[in-house]
This record gives sequence, structure tokens and C-alpha cells, in this order.
Amino acid sequence: MTETKEAPLRKMKSLSAEKIADIARESGIVGAGGAGFPTYVKLQSKAEIFLVNAAECEPMLKVDQQLMVSHACELIQGIRYGMKATGAKEGIIALKAKYKKAIATLTPLLTDNIRIHILPDVYPAGDEVITIWLATGRRVPPAQIPISIGVVVNNVQTLINLAKAIDEEKPVTHRTLTINGAVNKPMTLTVPIGTKMSELIELAGGCTVDHPEFINGGPMMGKYISDIDAPVTKTTGGILVFPREHLLIQRRLKTDQQIIAMAKTVCEQCRLCTDLCPRHIIGHELSPHELVKSMSYKQFAKPSTLLSALTCSECSVCESYACPVEISPMRINQILKGELRAQKAKYEGEIEPQDPMAEHRLVPIGRLVKRLNLLPYYHEAPMVEPLWQPEFVSIPLQQHIGAPSVPVVSVGDDVEAGDCIAKAAPDALSVAQHASITGTITEVDTKVITMRRG
Ligand code: SF4
Ligand code: SF4
Repeated sequence: MTETKEAPLRKMKSLSAEKIADIARESGIVGAGGAGFPTYVKLQSKAEIFLVNAAECEPMLKVDQQLMVSHACELIQGIRYGMKATGAKEGIIALKAKYKKAIATLTPLLTDNIRIHILPDVYPAGDEVITIWLATGRRVPPAQIPISIGVVVNNVQTLINLAKAIDEEKPVTHRTLTINGAVNKPMTLTVPIGTKMSELIELAGGCTVDHPEFINGGPMMGKYISDIDAPVTKTTGGILVFPREHLLIQRRLKTDQQIIAMAKTVCEQCRLCTDLCPRHIIGHELSPHELVKSMSYKQFAKPSTLLSALTCSECSVCESYACPVEISPMRINQILKGELRAQKAKYEGEIEPQDPMAEHRLVPIGRLVKRLNLLPYYHEAPMVEPLWQPEFVSIPLQQHIGAPSVPVVSVGDDVEAGDCIAKAAPDALSVAQHASITGTITEVDTKVITMRRG
């Protein structure tokens, strides 16, 4: 995914809305922003606004801002197919003013019904609920999804994948991601899905610290990587490297018991976590300081207070920025969510008036970078070629929300890159998987299909 194109708008294929959604399912397209929600489901809904979330507000990730330059035509084409499928009358690309090259490349390609919206350089401008609010003024009620207010949101890479699937009949076989932090050559590159993450660390010149640890995704929402030999998937946005003593690693290594003990003994009930909670400021009931208090006193002013933990986006503002005493309301919410989901509990509260100071309570990226001590590890990570060609790939059958894909190949089969190796599970939320290299199938089990280049 690294060629640069300056072609005019492509001719669109004449397809029904149903056919566009079918192609998305069979091509294995899922939300590339991290959640992995199957895109065909969003394309089956009817929307007023088709919003592209191009905020990329996690510091250190440099994927979307570069893809919008190298693949501007495909992005616009993906939006047009998405608007055709959903019937949306308006398309909006929500990005930041600092993505100057992307704005300059996209602007000549905009059509009458597709526009750019400039977001402030704040976190979490890329939380889709916040992106919608900033770009349209609409507020998604708690525990609802964007379509409940007429909006469908998709990520940049997702829509590029949609255009490639329709116009070039190419399914999802590769992922563009950033390798950043304590590595010798920070870079953004495109690799076959199933490549070992450890190979990419080598490709980036190896680590610059003695005891490296790794995060899958951005510094705020990314997950600790316990096995660096795990494969890149359709939702791997980046691999960040930090020394073991870095606060981002140390926080992730704390046990639930440590988190609960801190909440019980150290919380000052200062409310800063609630005052800066992005969901709270737009009118959601979620009040992290109340949920932290619940660790000590199992009493709530309203029964819905506890259930509101289910509406936490896990953006980490409360943990990484707001709390002055190192408590993690987000982890408390994760613990509560686990218990509540096991009980099949649901949150049903209404949206309330937003904080009059809401727009001023989002976190400026510059301050976040300093607070997280990211400056020594924050690099531009330019897009590089050529494409990486691994000897082996391990393609998970579940890279998406829903049911795992069903293998259609056996050990010893020879397949070409792009061939379907697992179909979408029938009558379930699911997508297909495809060979990301040309070679031979070496292993098939209930979780993964492994291939050797050949
Ligand atoms: S910011 Fe920290 S100390 Fe203040 S209420 Fe929230 S968890 Fe407690
Ligand atoms: S992680 Fe914290 S700040 Fe973010 S939505 Fe959840 S409670 Fe609010």
C-alpha cells in the first residue's frame, strides 16, 4: 500500500447497496481502527452522514495521515461506495489541520457531497463518539451506536480496502502499521497479515533499549504485548517499543488486585477523572470517580451509576492524564464491565445536557505527549518500501468481532496470495480470510491457518 497516485476520480462500478456489502464481507473487510467490527454490517445500514474518522489522535501512530496522501483516490472511492451502500447524502473526512499534505492531496478530489472537517489537535478526537460530536454537533447517547443518530463511521484504511476490493477485486491481505518508539529506524510499512511482530522490530533496526517491552496500538489505548512473536492482524495499528521501566509499561503490568487496592486507599475523590472524561463531558452519566468510590462503598445514588461502567470507551484519559495519584478508573471500569457482562446487564440511561465547557476539556496532544514522557520515543516514522516478504505467516481465524471464519483449505494445499482460505461463518457476524502470501498451507486448526512461502 505504498504507491502514490494522482489520478482523477475513478469511474464507479454500478453495484447495488447489497452487492457492496456482500463484497465487503467476502473480502474480509473489518474496521481497521482497532475494533475489528465487520464493515459489511455498517454498509447494510441506512445513514444520513458517512463520516471518515481520520483523526489518528493517538500520538506516535502515523498510518492514516500517510495513507491519505499515498491513497487519496482510493479513500475517496471507498467513501463514494460507502455512501452508495448506506444512502448517505453527506460524506465528511474528519482530520487535523497538521495533516497538511493529506489536506492538500484530498482537497482537489472532493466532490460536491464530500467535505473535509478540521478537528482540534486534542485527544480523543478519534474516539468515534467524540469525532461525531466535533464534526457534526450530534451526540451519540450512552450505550448506543452512531447509526442511532444517522451517522456511520469508518476508518481510512477500511475505506481504502473497500475501494480495492470493489475496483481491483483484491481482498484484505495486508496491513499498514507504524513501528515507533525505542527502535533504530522508526517506520510505517505495509506487511502481509500474519507476519510475526518480532520480524518487524528487526526490520526497524532492532530495539535501542536493553529491556524492551511492546504495546500493540497507541500509547493511550494500545494493549501490552506479552508475545512479540504473535502475528500482525487486520487491526494492528502499530507496535510501540518502550523500556520496561517506562510508565506506560509499568501501568499495564499492574494486576487487578493492585489497581483495586490503590482505588480503595488513595482516591481523594477530587473528581478530575470525571471532569475530563470525554463521555461525561458530552452528557453521558459515566462518572469514573463514582465508580472508583464503588470499590470501597458498594452504594450508589442511582442504580444506573454502576451500569454506566459499560459505557466507558477505555480512552485512558482518566488514568493517563487526569488522576493526580496514579489511580486507574479505566481499569476499574474494565473489571466492572467483565462482571456486568457476565450478568448480561445493560445500561439504559438517557443522554443529559453536555458540559458547557466540554470543548475546552479535551486534552491537547502536546500536553499529553509531555505527561506520558513520550518525547524521547516520539518519531515521524515515515512510510517505507519495499513490501516485507515473510517466509511464514500465521493468519488468525478471528481478527474481527463475531464468529471465527471457517477454514476451506487443508495442510499441503498450494494457494496464491489473495485466495480465500477461510469463509465467513454462515448465519453469523463474520468475514472471510485470505492468503496473504503465495505458498503452501502448513497447519490448520480452530484458531489459525499457517502458511510457508513457496
Ligand atoms: S482523579 Fe484520581 S483521585 Fe481524583 S477522583 Fe478520580 S480516581 Fe480519585
Ligand atoms: S477511560 Fe476513563 S476517561 Fe475514558 S471514557 Fe472511560 S472513564 Fe471516561
